[in-house]
Amino acid sequence: MHNSKQFSNSLNLSGKRRDNPSKGVSISITFNEFYKMNLKHFTSLFQNEFKWGMARIAFYIYIVLIMASFGLFGFLTAPIATRIFFNSYDPRPYLKYFIPMLLQGYKLFFMLLKDRKYKFMLSVPLTDPPLKSPDRNIVKLAGNWVHEENTCYQCIRCCDKIKCPLLNLKEGTCVSYNSFYWNYFLCGRYPITQQHVDYYECPKWEIKYENNPYN
Ligand code: SF4
Ligand code: SF4
Repeated sequence: MHNSKQFSNSLNLSGKRRDNPSKGVSISITFNEFYKMNLKHFTSLFQNEFKWGMARIAFYIYIVLIMASFGLFGFLTAPIATRIFFNSYDPRPYLKYFIPMLLQGYKLFFMLLKDRKYKFMLSVPLTDPPLKSPDRNIVKLAGNWVHEENTCYQCIRCCDKIKCPLLNLKEGTCVSYNSFYWNYFLCGRYPITQQHVDYYECPKWEIKYENNPYN
């Protein structure tokens, strides 16, 4: 039995009338529980979505500064750049990638301006969590993909199509694997829309739903 205080603070979250239990299951919570729930939700928003969003914004600003200074800002802050792209504060093993990556940055920028289809490059929402692999809620293996899920079986089409300098052609691996860049942007989570799959003619993945939230 409710005491009067609890009852007056009760919320019926199902939006259905309480006096007829046959009209759906109602969930009652006290004001305190509701308050705690929101506090928890708000804290999680601050700890997660806010943090991820700020990290992406900081990345975009950093890249703009590098490109606007024709690479100079990247050289001056090399340990940060290598931490972002290679998971290491030691830039020495990665110096050979600096010029190719700078040129790649300009190339991708012009592709974004020129090729409407390529705008999907910016389709990762600012506040989405970092991901190391595709979200299986929205993608599935293509029906005729006969290999394991964790391999692309010698296919390098999506990295090769944009001539990514971070692709190790000899081994068919990504030098940036599991870095901030990989996890926060498209590489780790690829694909998230059917456009991605179509653009790269990916033989491995299919998008599950037409009305995918990222489209
Ligand atoms: S997965 Fe690696 S090699 Fe492929 S596009 Fe991304 S960064 Fe480049
Ligand atoms: S196009 Fe598809 S199968 Fe080929 S490397 Fe990219 S993700 Fe793998």
